[in-house]
Amino acid sequence: MEPAGGGEDCCVKVAVHIRPLIGDEKLQGCKDCVTVVPGKPQVQIGTHSFTFDHVYGSTGSPSSAMFEECVAPLVDGLFQGYNATVLAYGQTGSGKTYTMGTGFKDGCQTGLIPQVMNALFSKIESLKHQTEFQMHVSFIEILKEEVQDLLEPTCLSKSETANGHAGKVSVPGKPPIQIRESSNGVITLAGSTEVSVTSLKEMAACLEQGSLSRATGSTNMNNQSSRSHAIFTITMEQMRKLNPLYPADSSAETLNEEYLCAKLHLVDLAGSERAKRTGSDGLRFKEGVHINKGLLALGNVISALGDEKKRKEGVHVPYRDSKLTRLLQDSLGGNSRTVMIACISPADINAEETLNTLKYANRAR
Ligand code: ADP
Ligand code: MG
Repeated sequence: MEPAGGGEDCCVKVAVHIRPLIGDEKLQGCKDCVTVVPGKPQVQIGTHSFTFDHVYGSTGSPSSAMFEECVAPLVDGLFQGYNATVLAYGQTGSGKTYTMGTGFKDGCQTGLIPQVMNALFSKIESLKHQTEFQMHVSFIEILKEEVQDLLEPTCLSKSETANGHAGKVSVPGKPPIQIRESSNGVITLAGSTEVSVTSLKEMAACLEQGSLSRATGSTNMNNQSSRSHAIFTITMEQMRKLNPLYPADSSAETLNEEYLCAKLHLVDLAGSERAKRTGSDGLRFKEGVHINKGLLALGNVISALGDEKKRKEGVHVPYRDSKLTRLLQDSLGGNSRTVMIACISPADINAEETLNTLKYANRAR
């Protein structure tokens, strides 16, 4: 068996997160149909076997291991100016929201985003004597190829909340949020709320506000959160302070004002049951009955990036095929680092979707 495909220079790392059987599955008498090969990042289901960079859950590794091994290096990269993206992929109910921490109720303490925030601010604390930091947060959702703002101040209507049905109220006449690309390839969102944050507490409040808005924003809530991609983005600007006390300390490099800007996208993707694949060649996703343009395009983009041969041949990376890939364009590929976490249920009733998820994830390597 080949070692996991993620050497240091591989731009996409793939991990699998297997959640435990949950209440409903236990009640239905489901059996665990996913096996992890001891001591290896290898997953078996039926006659299929896949090797990834990491496998978590049901292997006895602590929950912090996923953050330390997969995400902490991306947080460190931010301080060197590298953009990064973390994607949670999987069928509805497989644990994407739990893994990312984009659920207001559960996962909020243990999910990856809260751990990112902790790591980020403790590093900032240790560097602030020499560097000035400016942080911004945005939290948006892509639903049916439309970008929606989860941090819009008027997002929750009070009157509707009072009778238990919070609803999104869009400001009349507000232009839709647009994805723009500047001449140097930097992608920005025009028209979405960018909250300036100076503390862990303020950033956590944004996560909470957006998560709540996502959970309650629709009367058809299960449907909406399974059909949409939620993207929590942290943008960090750094300016190294010159030290007036030690001018001799300033080498040519540090004398020139050092400015860096990088962003980290944390993405809770739409349910993968919406990305039906046809054909057994595994090369190209086709639009099936349940179309989610973002998942289809993401699969094709990541596969193009992960294939070194294709990259060398300069094969076209189809970023423009969806809003999701367009938005992530400057944070996928190139110098950016990408981690995909494939979330799966171990239950036999989900075996077919689990296999699809593992195939999709395998294609990313
Ligand atoms: P998704 O976002 O993929 O639809 P959720 O994150 O909402 O899935 O998870 C579905 C259910 O499984 C939730 O009740 C959640 O609390 C539970 N769950 C998910 N992952 C885990 C885990 N690693 N450990 C325990 N419970 C989990
Ligand atoms: Mg979810």
